[in-house]
Amino acid sequence: MSAIDGLPPLREVIAAHDLRAKKQLGQNFLLDLNLTARIARAAGDLTACDVLEIGPGPGGLTRGLLAEGARHVLAIEKDARAIPALNEIAAHYPGRLTVIHGDALMVDPLAHLTPPIRVAANLPYNIGTELVVGWLTPPQWPPFWQSLTLMFQREVAQRIVARPGSKDYGRLALLAQWRCEARIVLTLPPQAFVPAPKVESAVVQLTALPAPRYPADAQVLSRITFAAFNQRRKMLRASLRGLHPQIETLLAEAGILPTARAEEIGLDRFCALARALKSQPAG
Ligand code: SAM
Repeated sequence: MSAIDGLPPLREVIAAHDLRAKKQLGQNFLLDLNLTARIARAAGDLTACDVLEIGPGPGGLTRGLLAEGARHVLAIEKDARAIPALNEIAAHYPGRLTVIHGDALMVDPLAHLTPPIRVAANLPYNIGTELVVGWLTPPQWPPFWQSLTLMFQREVAQRIVARPGSKDYGRLALLAQWRCEARIVLTLPPQAFVPAPKVESAVVQLTALPAPRYPADAQVLSRITFAAFNQRRKMLRASLRGLHPQIETLLAEAGILPTARAEEIGLDRFCALARALKSQPAG
């Protein structure tokens, strides 16, 4: 039986190309094309956009993105076994899908993309955090993309959208929310994937803000949040002591109690502290 887009069902594609999932490549495939279409729709209006997809595998999400009208999709896949299957999709959508066989951490996608660009992916869990941190920091910032629609293990998704006071709140939340609107748009049970992972998954939508939410020097902010969350149980006057001899004065200037702990402090206060530290560099 053919699927809604006239291509073979994904189970047949996987059997025909002997695409048994490999754990070391973080392969958990989505085979339900209704679900991949839902994820594609969560990425927004794709009709006037190029879409970067990392790790297309057998192409379930790729087909969703194309069926939802993406102008052009650039798909970067490390597993050579998936390339013929992806080329079949490219032939079905002439001129709209470019497939690159390579490592997403090494390939520069920009040569193959025309703005506006959105990123959509069911990320391999082993490089998901590294990729998203890369997309949120220089030299990849300011962003080449308008939005990121990314499937992660639910625990990572929660760390991206976490608010102060929660156990998931930390550097990833601050980094993401400083420059983006971040929200979870879909949560999926393990059974949605083949093979089923041990944990739930969630799709996070990150939309780049025109400017960071609060002014701050990115490197100073990064140093502060690293020191603060590296010893998250400590009071800030202790965990940040190494940053400045008068750290308590700077904390007061930023409106932060010296006895507070990192997880209680919002992005606005961390940015205020970064400004205070920048204006009074240590020694
Ligand atoms: N998008 C497909 C889907 O939703 O069914 C597959 C998702 S699977 C979680 C992750 C995919 O990323 C696999 O196809 C895997 O081979 C690929 N992958 C793993 N490491 C990669 C890397 N460094 N660069 C590009 N692709 C990678």
